[in-house]
Amino acid sequence: MKFPKKMRTHCPFCKMHTEHKIEKAKKGKESSMTHITRQKKRRSGIGNDGKFSKVPGGDKPTKKVRLKYSCTKCGKSHQRPGFRTKRFEFKE
Ligand SMILES: [Zn+2]
Repeated sequence: MKFPKKMRTHCPFCKMHTEHKIEKAKKGKESSMTHITRQKKRRSGIGNDGKFSKVPGGDKPTKKVRLKYSCTKCGKSHQRPGFRTKRFEFKE
């Protein structure tokens, strides 16, 4: 899906609608000892390691997109709950 780079939306700091710059939120570093990484490690090796199944073990067919909304008025940014989409790009 395509998403505009700039959008007028509600700023929780200004408590009103302002112009926002939108960019992709950076993903945090993946921790190595989460449940899913241990499960993937255990499942890989002999046999079907789950790579071809949609879930669990393999990657999901869609990725969650998280966006950062930066208010151009107060300079603060906030995030909204991510949504799932296969392809994501910004509209020029
Ligand atoms: Zn603001």
